[in-house]
Amino acid sequence: MEKKAYVKPSLESETFVPSAYCAICFKIACEAMGDDKFDSRCEHTLKGCGTADHQAIRENSNGNLSMWENSVDQGWLRCDVTSPNPFTWENIQRNGNQVIWRTYAKNGDGRVWTHYGHAYRDQSTSNAS
Ligand SMILES: [Zn+2]
Repeated sequence: MEKKAYVKPSLESETFVPSAYCAICFKIACEAMGDDKFDSRCEHTLKGCGTADHQAIRENSNGNLSMWENSVDQGWLRCDVTSPNPFTWENIQRNGNQVIWRTYAKNGDGRVWTHYGHAYRDQSTSNAS
């Protein structure tokens, strides 16, 4: 009897590949500096989320946008964008490029950072380096 090849279900990858080609890449710096407004255990710093290089918005192959933070101490975190909703290029522009997003502590201790900032197109991230 012929053995059936296992076909992996095609799910959208949850792994951010920073060097992957993206047609449109935006960077965004967090502007909520200091203690988090909603979670006193969290802090926003210029060296962390306040650096535009640490947050990227990319378009996946299915046309959906995803946003990622390269956290200094936690590695890549998927950002939970709360505004605009739905998270599309048109809505970002309609919002004057403002985006509001949350990140959650990777270790599951329940800390939530609520960030906001203004996205801008960055050509240096528009292709693999
Ligand atoms: Zn922040």
